[in-house]
Amino acid sequence: MSYELSPEHREFRHSVRDFAQAEIAPYAAEWDRKHHFPVDTVQKMGRLGLFGLTAPEEFGGSGGDFTSLCVAIEEIAKVDQSMGITLEAGVGLGINPILTFGTDEQKQQWLPDLVSGRRLAGFGLTEPESGSDAGATRTRAVLDGQEWVINGAKQFITNSGSEITSVVTVTARTGERPDGRPEISAIIVPAGTPGFLAEAPYDKLGWHASDTHPLSFTDCRVPAANLLGERGKGFGQFLATLDDGRVAIAAVALGCIKACLEMSLEYAGERRTFGVPIGTKQGVAFQISDLQVMANAAELLIYKAAALKDAGAPMKEFKQAAAIAKLYATESAVTATRVATQVFGGYGFMEEYPVARFYRDAKILEIGEGTSEIQRLLIARGLGLPVE
Ligand SMILES: Cc1cc2nc3c(=O)[nH]c(=O)nc-3n(C[C@H](O)[C@H](O)[C@H](O)COP(=O)(O)OP(=O)(O)OC[C@H]3O[C@@H](n4cnc5c(N)ncnc54)[C@H](O)[C@@H]3O)c2cc1C
Repeated sequence: MSYELSPEHREFRHSVRDFAQAEIAPYAAEWDRKHHFPVDTVQKMGRLGLFGLTAPEEFGGSGGDFTSLCVAIEEIAKVDQSMGITLEAGVGLGINPILTFGTDEQKQQWLPDLVSGRRLAGFGLTEPESGSDAGATRTRAVLDGQEWVINGAKQFITNSGSEITSVVTVTARTGERPDGRPEISAIIVPAGTPGFLAEAPYDKLGWHASDTHPLSFTDCRVPAANLLGERGKGFGQFLATLDDGRVAIAAVALGCIKACLEMSLEYAGERRTFGVPIGTKQGVAFQISDLQVMANAAELLIYKAAALKDAGAPMKEFKQAAAIAKLYATESAVTATRVATQVFGGYGFMEEYPVARFYRDAKILEIGEGTSEIQRLLIARGLGLPVE
């Protein structure tokens, strides 16, 4: 199997890069400073077709491959991690579960607006008491006649409370299995449903221009038909969704690494100390060499995982490749921002240079969509180790 990008992918990369340079790069610092979620720009990404890359044409998508989505996420994230994650979560976590597990009616109802980028969807798995241990969900949904009544809370949910959020898919306990384990199902909750509240946005360390909220559900009633997929299969569906999401968030990390490489390379040629450019010094140049190695290695891992997905490889193989790509790319991104900030010296600590923003934005990559520890756990299990 070849992991090389095709000429079409490369051409597509250039069109997304041009868009990112024109429509995002000039404004990213201001959005970050003002904690502004730029709805217009998100919808422009939609008009470019970025939210519909992997969706079938019948819902307004272009029916493309997963590799194209990773290319788009990488290029957007290279100029702004907030917009990178908005696209990644919008497709990987918002559209993907409805597209994969939804009924025809659910797809017809929600997908056209999501695929066009006119609206966004959130994915509510994490709760105040259950993150890595997501199966410990406490949110409950009880069937009352033809309605689910939902009570509980979700935490840290991306794209869940913006003015264009149309829907959030959540996991909830819908009963107990014979062995005493909870039965967990996935339910679609439209924005604006009485009893469903997207609370005030978080004050985050980074990703300031992305939309993240705590959600609460108080006697929130939705039609029984809003069950997504099979009753009791919700947790498995969400975990499967996260496999794709891990490759996609690794593409956000790759954009970050490449941005650090380019910024450091340029600065090392310009900034002079002791009468010569700092790039003359091995102590600086070698760190930039390491950034190039990280970029190449992360790229290979990500596009290998994406190629496996596109080729319909066995789930076990894809799952392992996704966890490896996520772990390596996100940890490398954190290292890359530390290196780039160091190369910039004191200026790297100043918000007037994008490296400072990338430094703040990178840390969450090691946490969201499964922490580094959880990736190591998955990889160890994939190796057959009896790790708990
Ligand atoms: C900005 C942002 C956006 C997010 N977006 C979403 C979203 O859209 N949807 C959603 O559902 N969630 C979202 N999350 C939640 C994210 O996925 C969780 O924060 C993450 O999975 C970790 O869960 P936790 O925060 O509860 O940490 P915990 O699970 O409490 O973990 C705390 C620490 O313990 C470690 N740990 C836990 N269990 C183990 C173990 N078995 N072995 C070794 N170490 C372990 C963890 O790795 C971590 O270091 C988002 C989070 C943030 C910050």
